[in-house]
Amino acid sequence: MPGALVALGGNALLPRGARGSWEEARSRMRATAQTLARIARRYRPLVLTHGNGPQVGLLLRQSELAAREVPPSPLDVLDAETQGEVGYLIQSELEPALRRAGSRLDVLALVCRTEVRGSDPAFRRPTKPIGRFYSEQEARLLRKQHGWTMAHDPARGGWRRLVASPVPLRWLEGPAVRRLLSSSAGRSCVLVVSGGGGIPVVRRSRANYAGVEAVIDKDRAAALVAHELGLPTFVIVTDVPGAAVSFGRPGERWLHETSREELERYWRAGEFAEGSMGPKVEAGLDFLRRGGRRFVITDIPSLARALDGHAGTRVT
Ligand code: ADP
Ligand code: MG
Repeated sequence: MPGALVALGGNALLPRGARGSWEEARSRMRATAQTLARIARRYRPLVLTHGNGPQVGLLLRQSELAAREVPPSPLDVLDAETQGEVGYLIQSELEPALRRAGSRLDVLALVCRTEVRGSDPAFRRPTKPIGRFYSEQEARLLRKQHGWTMAHDPARGGWRRLVASPVPLRWLEGPAVRRLLSSSAGRSCVLVVSGGGGIPVVRRSRANYAGVEAVIDKDRAAALVAHELGLPTFVIVTDVPGAAVSFGRPGERWLHETSREELERYWRAGEFAEGSMGPKVEAGLDFLRRGGRRFVITDIPSLARALDGHAGTRVT
């Protein structure tokens, strides 16, 4: 199947430092959509996924400010809300871009869950910072009131809540989406799936799942989606044109065409920062190890050229 999974980073959705208004998001998506519409002709099916870090951050702040009047929702519900929000954002800009490019594809966004293991060691050692920065007194209070894990970030001068980032085990909607894509109805759509890494759930009993307070790394979840759908190409779109060795240091070198073995060597040597480029490279390696054909890291301006083999980091 000559299809592709394209994972859009939070920063491909909202410019870094943006306040997060709908207008900012739409104008950013307008540029992204133009490029996606161009590649949608050649990559069938085109399946999209996306991050939700900034969007969840805004919802957390909103619910914090409104807590006295409106009961705050748990994190899994906020994830569901952002899947709807970003799905709608993509629809709003991608459909007109597709029509302008002469394509009749529809854009369909689906609410998706990702199963994690309740016994995942990540729950005992939360590592993923979410939400705003707090003072030391606030941090102490939140720890006592909600049992949150709070961590000090001296560089940015404050305390933040940490949540677990467990390993994604299973994409619950995967089999249904696979069936959809094998039908003519599915083939007439660009699908948006598993936004924000999917809503994290644990299995209680048969077909009974419960949401958990965790975040799933969207790059890891994207690798799972690409694998589940048997898509040969997996693209991670972020805000740098690719992966570099000696990143930000003298002798910095951007990787262009590379092999899985070479990328793996650099990864083991610690060339890719934890929490940013590290999980992307890890996700790509995982995808290739499980039979994926091509893994690409790029940004929006270079996306089309990267797929043609002239930009980005390309791994085969
Ligand atoms: P996204 O929201 O797209 O997931 P991230 O901030 O998580 O974006 O990851 C992209 C960032 O990774 C880049 O902005 C860059 O600063 C950082 N980065 C860390 N190590 C590297 C590296 N070796 N090569 C390129 N970028 C790197
Ligand atoms: Mg990231």
